[in-house]
Amino acid sequence: MQLVSDNMSHEKDILLSVIVPVYNEEEVLPIFHHRLNQVLSAIPNERFEIIYVNDGSSDDSWSVMLSLTSFCADVECINLSRNFGKEAAMTAGIDHCKGQTVTLLDADLQDPPELIPKMLAKWQQGFDVVNMKRTEREGESRFKKYSADIYYKLLDHLADVPVQRNVGDFRLISRRVIEKIKQLTEKNRYIKGILSWPGYKQTTIEFSRPRREAGTTKWSFTQLVGLALSGITAFSVKPLRLSVWAGVLISASAFVYAFWVFIKTVWLGEAVQGYPSLMLVQLFLGGVQLIAIGVCGEYIGRIFTEVKGRPSYIVMDVESKVQVVKGQQKHA
Ligand code: UDP
Ligand code: MG
Repeated sequence: MQLVSDNMSHEKDILLSVIVPVYNEEEVLPIFHHRLNQVLSAIPNERFEIIYVNDGSSDDSWSVMLSLTSFCADVECINLSRNFGKEAAMTAGIDHCKGQTVTLLDADLQDPPELIPKMLAKWQQGFDVVNMKRTEREGESRFKKYSADIYYKLLDHLADVPVQRNVGDFRLISRRVIEKIKQLTEKNRYIKGILSWPGYKQTTIEFSRPRREAGTTKWSFTQLVGLALSGITAFSVKPLRLSVWAGVLISASAFVYAFWVFIKTVWLGEAVQGYPSLMLVQLFLGGVQLIAIGVCGEYIGRIFTEVKGRPSYIVMDVESKVQVVKGQQKHA
């Protein structure tokens, strides 16, 4: 393989940038890197770039990724100043990537790198976005599968943007779409929605999602709920409209009920009865009001974050290594 000089590593030379958000993945990183390199080295005469984004790991992920070199790709390691969350880490990668196409892979090998050639083939056929749809989700609890299913259906109904069901962050995106995505400067980063927003020519490849190669999931239940809410509030105002409709419906039924009470009192003389129904209505209304206030609060919270305009992430260090030749390493 020929030695790659710095002036050759400019934008148009890189066919694919692989972005990998990393949070406490020291165990799996070397295995991931090895498998990804096997796949990339099987595609001849092309240049690649692997961008590892260390999202404030508390383990040795940063030094592990610094030690990784490649015979078939430039390796860029971005160190965020703390844990900003997966969405921010992916945004950092998107902002730094230089390839004609970009793909986002989880470090735990749940997004198999072996599918990259298929994805590139679709791009070569003229598609701008190749969505990777999960048909099976191995190693995930029944609860996670069902809740994910219900959530995707809900999002489908609510979101103003068509967000594909069972398609995660794993996709291939062309440079012209990435340039549009970079213009979306919102601070509430719901990447699945952001990637779907520009549209363009899309296709879908189905795959069975394997279980984690090593380590454990980095998402707690409350974080997942937070992400789910952020997805809905970032891409739809329908919950606000729904609470208005709920208000209208409940007021209308209150009028009907009031009329019934009036009739009963005046004609039938049953004036003091009805404590249980009164309590029930009180509690029901109290609940509905609290939900409606909560929905408004969610949106106000989002506006608060946007108005502050803080960056989604802070980069502390960047280490770039151009591809290695015969075991030599060259720092850019
Ligand atoms: N991740 C990250 N920051 C976080 C949480 C996760 O960069 O705060 C990365 C993690 O290292 C992995 C990917 O996001 O590469 C997916 O995380 P995980 O496998 O824990 O999610 P799951 O597959 O369980 O939904
Ligand atoms: Mg995972």
